[in-house]
Amino acid sequence: MFDRFNRKLNYLRISVTDRCNLRCTYCMPEEGIKLFNHEDILSFDDIAGFTKVVVSKGVTKVRITGGEPLVRKGVTVLVSMISKIKSIEDLSMTTNGTLLKSYAQELRTAGLHRVNISLDTIDPVKFRAVTRIGDLNDVLEGIKAAKEAGLLPVKINCVIKDSKEEKDAKAVTRFCEDNDLEIRYIHQMDLVRGHFSEVDGGTGGNCALCNRLRLTSNGKLRPCLFSNIEFDIRKLGFKKAIQLATESKPECGTKNETGAFYNIGG
Ligand code: SAM
Ligand code: SF4
Repeated sequence: MFDRFNRKLNYLRISVTDRCNLRCTYCMPEEGIKLFNHEDILSFDDIAGFTKVVVSKGVTKVRITGGEPLVRKGVTVLVSMISKIKSIEDLSMTTNGTLLKSYAQELRTAGLHRVNISLDTIDPVKFRAVTRIGDLNDVLEGIKAAKEAGLLPVKINCVIKDSKEEKDAKAVTRFCEDNDLEIRYIHQMDLVRGHFSEVDGGTGGNCALCNRLRLTSNGKLRPCLFSNIEFDIRKLGFKKAIQLATESKPECGTKNETGAFYNIGG
């Protein structure tokens, strides 16, 4: 699958829920979050069926994200449905890690290859401040469980304000060096104002190299995180939505006034 700018689209990110058990200050407001109606959320059959079609068109990389993917009931069943689709070379999940202690082994058994875990600080007090309700210890236990379960390489997503030389980022860097973890630094972005930049240590944020399509949990296919363009996969049908998303993928993102990190998945 190639878009108008000859970029090969081989990466699907699936947000399986817009719910989350944390309230990170840069991602969600403390109150007044507008969540999708339950009846609009895609079923596992729809998600796996859509993934199968997109894989038949050349996608080889699939990431499950959210909201917090591990709060979606039965998510390991979905992982096992997706992992059975032939030709997926890389099946990963982005998670805040708080529930991984309970799920890591089950996810591995279901066929998940690896995880990215979000961690911006290893100071428990700051962690609570950033996430508003989180307990750092849960994430540290989750990281350990992911390694033990073989969800490797375990990568850490660290959100930074300006630079990876910030105090918290430096401490997370040391923690990663000491614990055999890969780290990627993500500049804090603003969808509405259109502030985005490249991920240091990853591939996101570089429009010229963008290979992604995103599926939201209410069934919208988005060709670009920094755009309002979306196509309803149930109304249009899977193939038509894929075709339209591919044809309309912008050369470069601008801004997104209709979505949020917690319902598109970052
Ligand atoms: N809940 C999971 C988690 O936190 O890993 C998955 C969903 S979260 C939206 C995916 C990624 O987006 C996380 O690594 C998070 O740090 C990042 N993120 C959220 N809001 C962001 C923002 N405003 N700027 C940059 N990254 C952001
Ligand atoms: Fe939840 Fe992830 Fe957003 Fe934090 S970044 S509020 S953990 S979805």
